[in-house]
Amino acid sequence: MLYRTMPKTGDKLSILGFGCMRLPMADGAIDDARAIAQVRSAIDRGVNYIDTAWPYHGGESEPFVGRALRDGYRDRVRLATKLPSWMIKTRADMDRYLNAQLTRLETGRIDYYLVHSLDGELWDKLMALGILEFLDTAKQDGRIVNAGFSFHGLATDFTRIVDAYPWVFCQIQYNYLDQSFQAGTAGLKYAASKGLGVVIMEPLRGGLLARPTPPPSVAAIWDQASPRRSPVEWALRWVWNHPEVTVVLSGMNEEAHVAQNLAMAEKAHAGSLGDGELALVDRAARTYHELMQVGCTGCGYCMPCPAGVDIPKSFSFFNSMYLSGEREAMRMFYLLSVDGGLIHEKSGLASECVKCGQCLEKCPQQIQIPDMLERVVEEMEGDDLRERAAMVRQAFLQEAK
Ligand code: SF4
Ligand code: SF4
Repeated sequence: MLYRTMPKTGDKLSILGFGCMRLPMADGAIDDARAIAQVRSAIDRGVNYIDTAWPYHGGESEPFVGRALRDGYRDRVRLATKLPSWMIKTRADMDRYLNAQLTRLETGRIDYYLVHSLDGELWDKLMALGILEFLDTAKQDGRIVNAGFSFHGLATDFTRIVDAYPWVFCQIQYNYLDQSFQAGTAGLKYAASKGLGVVIMEPLRGGLLARPTPPPSVAAIWDQASPRRSPVEWALRWVWNHPEVTVVLSGMNEEAHVAQNLAMAEKAHAGSLGDGELALVDRAARTYHELMQVGCTGCGYCMPCPAGVDIPKSFSFFNSMYLSGEREAMRMFYLLSVDGGLIHEKSGLASECVKCGQCLEKCPQQIQIPDMLERVVEEMEGDDLRERAAMVRQAFLQEAK
């Protein structure tokens, strides 16, 4: 296992972190015996960063991690979890959730505590409720050691959040298809320039880049590579190649995935890919983008939409649905991300579009945004939207007692 240093703390963290969002299941619940064996085997082989969050597995991931880290494993890792920021209505809620998380995780401290899934709007709300004072207090009394945030908003909001607090780290979505999406490469470099460690989520873009059989035009590119690598290895090696990256999270639920990722993590030094290899990954990225239904780069210039539509996210999930073939999963993630009453009070669904046309002249890709949103409505929302939204809500909005 290779390790990289968290700049502000000197912590040596394994470049591969264990994400506990997609654990192995049996009979509709986490398969405890199997999942615990996987987590402990990864720790025995050098992984020392374990990541979970309040809503993962309908609230069952944190208690699972508590069990998995018994028998002396807790002291061998740095534990990360996240404040469910969309559930926070008062300053007191922040303490209520953190205290409940410490109980669920059977621990007295969270080593790396993130404010979960921020964007500009959510951040402004939390600032008004006193998030900075909460983080200071929780650090002073030892409930959290290092403060960070995870991010799913626009690049302009990313930099102002980085600048708003002495964060130790942040967590961003990053992979070779999302170089300009959300924080993107610019955000990665900005955070690193300010001394933040950067944890990467979605290095395989929800599994799309790990498919053993990619689209034929992408497979043809990998066929020309020397040395030969699997699609998943190209994707992970590309992320690890960036010196600004500290830890890459991977949700592993098959023993073979754990073994495969551990083997890759042994040789993924920053800067170890040559120019020819990087050019090949760039070609694969361009080819994937050509296969997308909407040529949206996620730049966010069309935002804000006066009707509240989250245009970049709507197109991102729409593209992912086509490229991954994971229709139901992408429809669910779309709802989770943009439906009202979940992360945000107001809906950002494509169906909110009133066709005012204000976004059209702002889009550098000249996308016919209102027309494309109609397709998103048709294919991602559909007639069963309300039923699916109720299911997502039940799983996601679980309150602390
Ligand atoms: S056309 Fe639709 S998406 Fe574009 S700004 Fe108007 S309401 Fe928003
Ligand atoms: S629709 Fe156009 S302006 Fe909006 S995020 Fe996509 S590429 Fe950028």
